[in-house]
Amino acid sequence: MNERIQLSTPHMTGREMKYIQEAFDTNWIAPIGPNITGFEQDLCQFTGSRYALALSSGTAAIHLALHILGVGKGDIVLCQSLTFIATANPILYLGANPAFIDSEPTTWNMCPDTLETAIKHYLALGKKPKAVVVVHLYGMPAQLKEIILVCAKYDIPLVEDAAEALGSTYFGQNVGVFGYAGILSFNGNKIITTSGGGALLCQRPDYLEKARFLASQAKDNASHYEHSETGYNHQLSNVCAGIGRGQMEVLKDLVEKRRSIFDLYRSRLKDIPGVSFQEEQIGFFSNRWLTVVVFDPKESEIRPETLRLALEKSNIETRHVWKPMHLQPIFKNTPYFGGNVAETLFETGLCLPSGSNLPPESIQVVSEKISELCEK
Ligand SMILES: *Cc1c(COP(=O)(O)O)cnc(C)c1O
Repeated sequence: MNERIQLSTPHMTGREMKYIQEAFDTNWIAPIGPNITGFEQDLCQFTGSRYALALSSGTAAIHLALHILGVGKGDIVLCQSLTFIATANPILYLGANPAFIDSEPTTWNMCPDTLETAIKHYLALGKKPKAVVVVHLYGMPAQLKEIILVCAKYDIPLVEDAAEALGSTYFGQNVGVFGYAGILSFNGNKIITTSGGGALLCQRPDYLEKARFLASQAKDNASHYEHSETGYNHQLSNVCAGIGRGQMEVLKDLVEKRRSIFDLYRSRLKDIPGVSFQEEQIGFFSNRWLTVVVFDPKESEIRPETLRLALEKSNIETRHVWKPMHLQPIFKNTPYFGGNVAETLFETGLCLPSGSNLPPESIQVVSEKISELCEK
């Protein structure tokens, strides 16, 4: 039996410890310090964002992004349905109401036409949506030009959930810097990790200032502790930011590794009847955080759950595509706009082991097993 092949595990490269040692040597064992500042600078330099704020998680970053855009009780926030629940939870934290939008089949992300339909629906009710949250799923940029046009037409701010997409670009520009706010995640399974962490990217100084203020308990400018609004404790540790600085030094290589894993899977599996992948259109560059294989039920008998269980027997970890938010029990009474694109991807796709620390031999093993199982 082969050693367990996991979906996506932390990939430490040896560059992290020097920053952590520095934190210990200088006693910056706190949610402030030089690693935080350095990590934020690295993120700005890499993404081209004017500002970056290091935070305790990607979820915290979405929470702050929506808060600084003024999302509050009873507001409508239009959110991509095909995503991890962390995209939508902060809408609930703020007492606002999500409405979910289907994907388009090309990028698997928010459909711009359906977005416009939803906006028109709410405008007709006299209820202008407060924000739009788009996701760059598995690293694939959404159709940003079209989505930005729709948002601009109705003057609704866009938030980009780029938790899975650090290193992805759209016509040469990094994702996460197109909207009023962008968010990143450095959870253990993401393309880089700080063991747990996230960041807010924004282009306006007042947004940065407000986010910083809210992330550290909303302390007013006074010599004592003075508070006039509710804040949070959403800061990242200076020790964890040290891991991030080390990871940023190799981010480009990690993206290349993930992309080569995708290429390897595709070349090995593409001839299986009914198989397809999330393809890049011209101008779209994905970090290929996870490779997802899709089986067209019209041409293939294979179902993701059958394949997942069979691969599990060979000690290979795979995972279903995110179950769309509009199909989640917690959102059963939540409005949904669109058809069955997200649902079909959920029912027909399977995420394959894609960690940048996986050797090509492991990708071979997984590909061979899948080919075998598909021939049966
Ligand atoms: C991981 C992830 C998040 C949340 O990030 P955390 O750092 O785990 O809070 C948000 N959105 C998407 C799409 C994600 O994949």
